[in-house]
Amino acid sequence: MSELPVLIVGGGPVGLTASLLLSKHGIRSLLVERHPGTSIVPKARGINARTMELYRQYGVEPGIRAAGLAPERTGLILWTESLAGREIERRTPGRANPKNQALAPVPNCLCAQDDLEPVLRRYAEAEPLGSLRFNAEVVNVRQTADGVEAEVVDRVTGVKEPIRAQYVIAADGAQSPIRKMLGVRMLGVERIYDSVNILFNADLRPWTAHRPGALYFVEQPDLRATFLTINATDRWSFLIHSLSHYGYTPADFTDEKCTALIRQGVGVPDLPVKILGLSAWEASAHVAEQYRHGRIFLSGDAAHEMPPTGGFGMNTGVQDVHNLCWKLAAVLHGQAGDSLLDTYHPERQPLGVTITKTALDNCLSMGRTAKQETAVVARPEFLSEQGLIFGAAYDSAAVVPDGTPPADNPDPITRYLPSARPGCRAPHVVLERGKERISTIDLFGGRFVLLAGPRGEAWCAAVSGDTAAYRIGADLTDPNGDWCEMYGVEPDGAVLVRPDGQIAWRSLAGVADAGAVLGDVMARVMGRGTEL
Ligand SMILES: Cc1cc2nc3c(=O)[nH]c(=O)nc-3n(C[C@H](O)[C@H](O)[C@H](O)COP(=O)(O)OP(=O)(O)OC[C@H]3O[C@@H](n4cnc5c(N)ncnc54)[C@H](O)[C@@H]3O)c2cc1C
Repeated sequence: MSELPVLIVGGGPVGLTASLLLSKHGIRSLLVERHPGTSIVPKARGINARTMELYRQYGVEPGIRAAGLAPERTGLILWTESLAGREIERRTPGRANPKNQALAPVPNCLCAQDDLEPVLRRYAEAEPLGSLRFNAEVVNVRQTADGVEAEVVDRVTGVKEPIRAQYVIAADGAQSPIRKMLGVRMLGVERIYDSVNILFNADLRPWTAHRPGALYFVEQPDLRATFLTINATDRWSFLIHSLSHYGYTPADFTDEKCTALIRQGVGVPDLPVKILGLSAWEASAHVAEQYRHGRIFLSGDAAHEMPPTGGFGMNTGVQDVHNLCWKLAAVLHGQAGDSLLDTYHPERQPLGVTITKTALDNCLSMGRTAKQETAVVARPEFLSEQGLIFGAAYDSAAVVPDGTPPADNPDPITRYLPSARPGCRAPHVVLERGKERISTIDLFGGRFVLLAGPRGEAWCAAVSGDTAAYRIGADLTDPNGDWCEMYGVEPDGAVLVRPDGQIAWRSLAGVADAGAVLGDVMARVMGRGTEL
């Protein structure tokens, strides 16, 4: 029987990211994917700026940018009667405006899932610690007292290989066989509306190039649909929403019917169209009641399924494993107690619920659940959810509160108020390392990082082990002089940032015994049992 630290079930964007992150943290893993290769369907396209931050930290950003579209080619969302017909409404979504883009060192990126996954696969396979096996299926998963046993079935030969892992990441998608095997209760609503996603070739530039957008909605009395930009020239998706309300079933969508509906959506009856593929799906909005089940962790669509209205599904899943992988690594390296893994659920599940509800509210505002007589545009929050993208504020045993109250945010969905309160994302501040311009975000990734003010020598001298330490305004230049204010500390204060870029602890000012305080903080965050 093969033995390994972590088995990843599923090779979608979430499983592929988990493979890469575990390797970067020095953990051996095996990813098993049932399909012969990566996705052939461009489902997700919008990678938000928070997800791009973490891909930047792990060196993947250039590959994704090369495979995706530049932000200026996708900046708008438009509602039309048809592409060639009347434009009903045009918006610049909040996430594309310059003020919001200044919240992060990287902009969001449009990269279709079938272009993204090969990039993630390439980076994951380049890591010697991560093995990836396609065309194979994980079956018969069962937990024992000290591990998880399963079988990997080769889908070509049918040969079954027993395998034993210390932990399993279930990234096995919305129908998650592992979630079903565990009998996990899902909270929320299923089957809100039905849809087909048609991938096609047609040159739509005459109706799109002068108003480059990510989404072009079509609002007609008998057709509610969206043109989704893939390459902004001749490769597009056409999503037809709420089929059953308009008298269709998925079986109706022959190539001829798809071509006719695409021509109707464009408003050009003789447009040359080549249909490349079609997938039928149903939108649900539900979240697993519990993310951790012994040694098995649900992630991505296996943990939460949401309507695509807002572009959150994949982003939330990638950020799940970003939260989980450093914790698994710390436990497997013997640096943390098993209880650190208990913090995965309280940190990620409530956020999964909030994001899923937001995606549902977006979808309801777009009239997806009934036949509409007139055009319906989305509520203003749609694609302007900066608060959700950057504002995760964890409350768990892996965060040490500093006694300060959370900022009073009147609109936590659309407004992000940068804060270095423990549990929050360490905010982006521009710094200089010599002549190089960097972001605080560039300092985080593989390990804990202590950031201190310019008079925080004692904190930096007190760090131990693998923790990196920088005095901002001394080791690194703070050109605008705003780090202390942004991080809410005095010049002799400090923060400890976790490998996932969230603040673990903050001291507003210096203390008498920095070494003792940091030792206690680290023990507490890592679940090693010492109380402050
Ligand atoms: C039309 C549409 C548009 C979308 N747009 C966006 C967007 O803009 N942004 C966004 O963030 N999200 C978007 N999403 C959602 C996004 O596509 C999903 O959230 C994402 O694919 C989830 O990734 P995953 O890795 O969790 O699951 P999946 O991509 O479903 O991957 C799971 C994999 O597990 C494999 N598997 C299952 N069981 C086994 C087994 N036993 N053994 C081996 N392999 C197994 C499956 O074959 C599958 O490949 C959109 C979805 C749709 C339908």
